[in-house]
Amino acid sequence: MYADVIVDITNAEVDKIFEYYFSDCKITLGSRVVVPFGNKVLEGIVIGVKEKSNYPPEKIKPIFRLLEETPALTNETLSLMQYICDTCYVTRALALRLFLPVEMRKGKVKEQFTKFVCLVDGVDVVQTVESIRKSAVKQKELLLYLDKEKREQFTKLNNLFGASAVKGVIEKGYAYTVEEKYFRSPYKNLTYSNKDVTLTDKQAAAVDSVIGTDKTTSLLFGVTGSGKTEVYLNLIDKTIQSGRTAIMLVPEIALTPQMLKQLRARFGDDAAILHSGLSAGERFDEWWRLRNGEARIAIGARSAIFAPLENVGLIIIDEEHDGSYTSESSPRYSTVEVAKFRARQLNAKLVLGSATPSIESFKRAEDGEYNLIELPDRINKRPLPKIEIADMRVEVRRGNNTPFSSVLKYELDSCLKKGNQAIIFLNQRGYSKTVVCTECGHVQKCESCDVSLTYHKEDDALLCHYCGAKYKMITACTECGSPFIRYGGTGTERVVAELKKLYPTARILRMDRDTTQSKEGHFKILNQFSAREADILVGTQMIAKGHDFPAVTLVGILDADMSLHFSDYRSGERTFQLLTQVAGRSGRAQDAGKVVLQTYSPDNPVLRQAVNYDYLGFYKHEISIRKATAFPPFTDVVRVLISSENDDNALAVTKSIYGELNLLYLEQRDKFRFFGCMKAPLKRLQNKFRYQVLMRINANDKQLLDRIFFTSDKYKSRSVFLSMEVNSNNLT
Ligand code: ADP
Ligand code: ZN
Ligand code: ZN
Repeated sequence: MYADVIVDITNAEVDKIFEYYFSDCKITLGSRVVVPFGNKVLEGIVIGVKEKSNYPPEKIKPIFRLLEETPALTNETLSLMQYICDTCYVTRALALRLFLPVEMRKGKVKEQFTKFVCLVDGVDVVQTVESIRKSAVKQKELLLYLDKEKREQFTKLNNLFGASAVKGVIEKGYAYTVEEKYFRSPYKNLTYSNKDVTLTDKQAAAVDSVIGTDKTTSLLFGVTGSGKTEVYLNLIDKTIQSGRTAIMLVPEIALTPQMLKQLRARFGDDAAILHSGLSAGERFDEWWRLRNGEARIAIGARSAIFAPLENVGLIIIDEEHDGSYTSESSPRYSTVEVAKFRARQLNAKLVLGSATPSIESFKRAEDGEYNLIELPDRINKRPLPKIEIADMRVEVRRGNNTPFSSVLKYELDSCLKKGNQAIIFLNQRGYSKTVVCTECGHVQKCESCDVSLTYHKEDDALLCHYCGAKYKMITACTECGSPFIRYGGTGTERVVAELKKLYPTARILRMDRDTTQSKEGHFKILNQFSAREADILVGTQMIAKGHDFPAVTLVGILDADMSLHFSDYRSGERTFQLLTQVAGRSGRAQDAGKVVLQTYSPDNPVLRQAVNYDYLGFYKHEISIRKATAFPPFTDVVRVLISSENDDNALAVTKSIYGELNLLYLEQRDKFRFFGCMKAPLKRLQNKFRYQVLMRINANDKQLLDRIFFTSDKYKSRSVFLSMEVNSNNLT
């Protein structure tokens, strides 16, 4: 027999399929195999099996061996892989990496086995204990223990009764050892209680609607705290009961231990977690539990959409609007689109949930492509927290130079006095956003990027948030030598410092990228806050996502304008989503919640709509702008990004690509709404000079996209990098 094999070569740019012959009948479609390749031995995956070859037999080499009996990929995941190749313009070898845990590919992690000690069947323990010599106390205790437990881990018994006792009992023939596959399981210390809830009528209707609709995709549009999670759990339950499997995606699993708790409480070991924060061993084991059918529910962040489950009947994407669902590095896939493909292929249901659906999703619901389900009220009709606007221009005029408005201070006082908890949100980590010379105005910049540096007081260092470079804090301006330095723009570190001045006895936690580096770091902070070991949680957008802290009655949003002024067509949408999400953390239990939103532009329509929780008003306004200005979902924004360490090379390639694409543009003008070529907004990043050809083309024109890609792609070389992004979230 012959096999088509994709070989896992490091240079995955080469998209080739190689043929090998084999006789091992266990080798089949999706099997991982070891093959000779040039003078190397590499791993590969079988994507086709056939009886005849196109090559003369002497040219074909044999497959050396099969890696595992269970094929890693199935028919279904193989065709999903092909879909990724076609839509993301990547080689099969690259696409394949989405489907296999890294650990598996490199062969680094192996299955783990644990030794157990078991009592021999039919041993009469009481009689045996009497017959053993008196001094062997430990052996007797061990036997009694085994009589009760029947089996126990070898190492545990050694610890409890001593190695010689364990050895003695085994040698005497009362017990024996076995090795068993052992699964490393993440988040073992998670405590959970199984809340027994009865669905409200609205929730029950939502469940029925997802199941009853003949549409693949349902959009669950429910305000924060409306009980979407309970709807998800119920749907998963029903799916499992009907013998199928389910995938549940959350924006960032490390940030939502709550979801994990509830899944574990409800489904126990039936749920497996896939995400990058796990140890290599854990990830490997969880993956195999899903592949073997031992776990039927996959939960994870974006990449879990590639979970190796068979017979998927339900896919849920919670907070579907979240930017993390779009991959910003190759393969640049949209999780929602991949999910739709997978769901359609399997005749499964896809549920997109959000309090603030993306403009695109809501449009599709409006157009009738998605089944729209609404949960307009919070559980028990708890009111949404009242949002109060604090005009920071007035505060500055009054001489308030702290990060907190007087309203926020007043509310914080009373919140803490009542013994409640508060969340302070600011989407800027570090101490100050920039460091500026007061004499000459020079801003400290990164040497490798066209970006200003952020001061981190804890490290006493200047950090580049783009490339990660770290510089010593300056004592004088590097341009003019002046010692007078101003801190521009507040970060979370500074907010904590200021809060400590105001409330010396308050317990304050900070959650941002810097405080969550360690394994399960997010989890620890969230647990502490949830256990009420702190009064105030200060954080970046990490704290906005889906948490349910019942004692939080105040949320302060320090700079609501931060994301408004990006020159990006999505900035209004993103601001609305973020504000609604953060505000939704307040007043989720008995006590009514409050939100203080600080801004320098209190009349901005997006802020007004957010304050009134007016999603529909916001949507109508936004969609009319998008239509008038020809932005998505009415067009696709396509960018070809050219970058190189050599500015001249980058520019030369840019000109060539522009020239060729320009011909295409002239030829098909009716398909373009915008066509231009310029320096990228971030002109230099990690020592590379960056240029872009920017286009807006008719939406969903695959043929045109193909032509743009293949026209540009042939110019890439060792020194000039190219990428094509479609509707990217990040056009810096
Ligand atoms: P969402 O995901 O929509 O923001 P959650 O699912 O977190 O909302 O629900 C908010 C709160 O309401 C949670 O504390 C949850 O336990 C509770 N809840 C949800 N459904 C019910 C129900 N049917 N009965 C009682 N409490 C519920
Ligand atoms: Zn200076
Ligand atoms: Zn940098």
